[in-house]
Amino acid sequence: MKVLVLNCGSSSVKFQVIETSLEMIEANSDATLARGLVEKIGLSDSRLAIEVEGRKPYQEISEILEHRTAVERVLKVLVHPEHGVLKSVKELEAVGHRVVHGGEKVASSVLVTPEVEAMIEECVVLAPLHNPHNLRGLNAARGLLPGVPHVAVFDTAFHQSMPPMAFIYGLPYELYSRHRIRRYGFHGTSHRFVSIRTAKLLGRPLEDVRIVTCHLGNGCSMAAVDRGHSVDTTMGFTPLEGLLMGTRSGDLDAAILPWVMTMEDVTLSQLNAMLNKHSGLYGISGVSSDMREIEHACATGNKRARLAFDIFCYRIRKYVGAYAAAMGGIDAVTFTGGIGENSSLVRQTSLAGMEFLGIELDEEANRVAPRGKEILVSKGGSKVAVALIPTNEERVIARDTVRVLGGVMPSFAVPGTEAPR
Ligand code: AMP
Repeated sequence: MKVLVLNCGSSSVKFQVIETSLEMIEANSDATLARGLVEKIGLSDSRLAIEVEGRKPYQEISEILEHRTAVERVLKVLVHPEHGVLKSVKELEAVGHRVVHGGEKVASSVLVTPEVEAMIEECVVLAPLHNPHNLRGLNAARGLLPGVPHVAVFDTAFHQSMPPMAFIYGLPYELYSRHRIRRYGFHGTSHRFVSIRTAKLLGRPLEDVRIVTCHLGNGCSMAAVDRGHSVDTTMGFTPLEGLLMGTRSGDLDAAILPWVMTMEDVTLSQLNAMLNKHSGLYGISGVSSDMREIEHACATGNKRARLAFDIFCYRIRKYVGAYAAAMGGIDAVTFTGGIGENSSLVRQTSLAGMEFLGIELDEEANRVAPRGKEILVSKGGSKVAVALIPTNEERVIARDTVRVLGGVMPSFAVPGTEAPR
């Protein structure tokens, strides 16, 4: 079936049309027929771009003031005789939506019903920068394609298998009971996809392998995936915690915050901006949030860029060690995301000196690894495999849509991992 996948941000709508089915999932043969992006929604020069295999990429600039118009334009371009890929929107049999936060209530992908919509709305307080836009896209698409099922796929759901010792913070317990302040984790679709693909690449059942997955892009997170279940992850209550990121600080002593507020006389919203927009690779290097530019600056001798790069890799190494301890050993470390898939230097630096854990990188294979391929870059005899797996969150969303509709969508919840009430 042809599934439209929508990922709605504050001023953008990413979309793909994916041909998939339960058989195609099994054979890993599902295909992306079209992909595109609407950006600068709300401005007079919004841009819609679409790429269809075998055709020249197409783009148009026009005023798109809100998400409904954006989705309307997407549907229009998809049926355009020259630039589109469908004869009629009736060919779309379902829509899969990315939703960032499902809180504690969803541990799976689900058919969108009024109850599910209300639940996504309830989670707006937990993800005020994401869920409202996801909802806006969802409403727009349901209005425009009322005759087809809509499925919501949550970034947080895969991590709902974590045990309380991994998700409860060392804060007064009332903050959890009253406000659900806990680790949720994000990038769940990506961690799940690459862990499944890693097991396939190793030729081993997922239920047998312990994998540390490293999703390194603009946002970065790692997860400990123990025999198919996420048992810990670096992002927390929000996507700020854990690894150093493009502009986010990652792990930090929380006592710094009141101290900075007093000493620098900053407001709460300035503090938020500092942590999310002015920190990380960018904040430390003063050069860029982009890893390519950081690597370039390192090569020209920029010491702060080198420091930012080293901190970035050091945290990855620390969490590999931590997650090996958490799972009682590891069978694979998997890299994905723009940095994870493309930066051989990050992979090499992060894993250097980890032979004691059984991780032996094949430096040459790592250096020349082709782009866009699922591949092992560890030495033949390495106890722990090192894998590169291009992530494909849209494909996970399309696949889950098919699974939900086919009644074969598993829940990620693990009985016995509920926290005391
Ligand atoms: P993503 O958010 O997954 O698109 O990843 C974006 C990040 O990937 C940016 O920091 C890019 O600099 C980084 N990236 C993309 N290509 C490369 C490359 N060839 N080498 C190093 N970093 C890269």
